[in-house]
Amino acid sequence: MKWSLTIARVFGIRIRVHFTFLLLLLWIVVETRAAAGWGAAAWGVAFIVATFTCVALHELGHSVVAQRFGIRVSSITLLPIGGVAALRSIPQKPGQEIAITLAGPLVNVVIFAVLYVIAVWVPFEVPYYPGLMTLPELPIGVAELMGALLLVNKWMVVFNLIPAYPMDGGRLFRAVLAQWLSYPRATAIAAVVGRAFSIGFVALGLLTGWIFLAIIGVLIFFAAGAEEKTVRLHGALQDIEVGKVMTPVFMTVGPDDAAGDCLPWIFQRGQDDFPVMSDGDLMGMLTRGAVLEAAKQNGTARAADLMTRNFSCTRPDAQVAGVHDAMLANGQRTVPVIEDGRLVGLLTFDNINRYFMIHPSGAARKVT
Ligand SMILES: [Zn+2]
Repeated sequence: MKWSLTIARVFGIRIRVHFTFLLLLLWIVVETRAAAGWGAAAWGVAFIVATFTCVALHELGHSVVAQRFGIRVSSITLLPIGGVAALRSIPQKPGQEIAITLAGPLVNVVIFAVLYVIAVWVPFEVPYYPGLMTLPELPIGVAELMGALLLVNKWMVVFNLIPAYPMDGGRLFRAVLAQWLSYPRATAIAAVVGRAFSIGFVALGLLTGWIFLAIIGVLIFFAAGAEEKTVRLHGALQDIEVGKVMTPVFMTVGPDDAAGDCLPWIFQRGQDDFPVMSDGDLMGMLTRGAVLEAAKQNGTARAADLMTRNFSCTRPDAQVAGVHDAMLANGQRTVPVIEDGRLVGLLTFDNINRYFMIHPSGAARKVT
């Protein structure tokens, strides 16, 4: 996500804070100071930081379990409306999805339990917040902060388990449906339910003046559509072989060719990455980044000096869905297609998207 600042790295996952989050902190300081002075403002900031530490731990719960299933997690971004963990691929087995999804709210249950035990053992006068907090009720003092965090974690569990896909509850709902239905079909139903909830959130948010709920509703509405599209694409690619989607027409370069020679192909032909060939053998891939970098230094650097040897290949009879997953997981934009030791094509995200444009009903065939 753009406009984010990396503040930490945990288990190889970058924890990032979106700049709008800093605006939230500023707003809290200004408002609470005006209402109750600098002391209140400091406690307000402490409360927000503690709350979003809980949000980050919730997302880490999802992420760590996802990593255990071999799914790469590049970052966790904290926004004023909550956290987003960026998984590089979608878990395909319902069991994995259930485990990954439950891990988030489970973290909040653990935090709640720990705070509760501390509150009982250290006899704090923990105030009980009956309803949702509004700004003048922000906690002042350690005991109030504890009470507020207990409430926050309780609500994080309850709210996240509402079956509004793609929130946690909606993912669980989809995983349950996927026991009987195909994955794309289950997602389509979960997305419809998710959108119905999101409209409800917006209406409720506007009626009660709780504007965060309305914003969350809008975001869920669009996120449901975006995730459903990804799943539909995946479903449509399930039965399709790489050979049908790949491009057989592409430019290759020799190891001694100037990397800058590829520039016209990038701009005029839309080819991003170039196989480096020597005597019919694929030696490496020259990526767009390397070509553009070479072009800045008058473009004469040799292809062999700039190419990467770190890439994976596929076969024409491989399934596109699996290759697409691998491309998302390791960020490889172009996959060379090899048949009988010979380079016969390139598979790119662009190929896959174009294929989907003309075969959008591919997913429908999978409906069982
Ligand atoms: Zn979650």
